[in-house]
Amino acid sequence: MDCEICGKEIGKLRQTVVDGNTLFVCEECASFGKEKAVEKTEKTVQKPAPQRTILPPEFRKKEFDLGLEIVDDFGKQIRKAREAKGMTTKELAMKIFEKESLLHRIENQAIKPSDEMIKKLGKQLGIQLKKKIE
Ligand SMILES: [Zn+2]
Repeated sequence: MDCEICGKEIGKLRQTVVDGNTLFVCEECASFGKEKAVEKTEKTVQKPAPQRTILPPEFRKKEFDLGLEIVDDFGKQIRKAREAKGMTTKELAMKIFEKESLLHRIENQAIKPSDEMIKKLGKQLGIQLKKKIE
C-alpha cells in the first residue's frame, strides 16, 4: 500500500481526512490531516478451517433423496413391472413382506408408498419410482 500523500510504500496506513478528503497515508503524513479512529491495515482475519462433518448413512441417504419425488404413475409402473415378472400382488406382497391389500391400494394409486416401500418395490421389480423434481 502506498501513502496517498507522499507515495511511500508502507504496510500499515492511517486513515486521515485532509481538506475533507479521506486519504490513506503513512505515519508522517497523518499529521497533515485529522486522523480517524479507524485504521486500515493489511491484517487478514483468520477464518477457522471448515469442518467436514461425516454424516450418518441415513442422513446421507435423505440428502440424496432430496429433489426426488415419486413418479405420477407409480401404481401403473408397479403393476406393469409386476406383471412382466409374472407375479400376482400376493406373491409380490410376500416377497417384500407387506400386506397384499396395501400393495393393491398402492397399485390403484389410492395411497402413496412410503420411502421404505419404494425402495423395496424398486429393488424387487427393478424399477425407479422416484424422479427428479423438474
Ligand atoms: Zn506519506
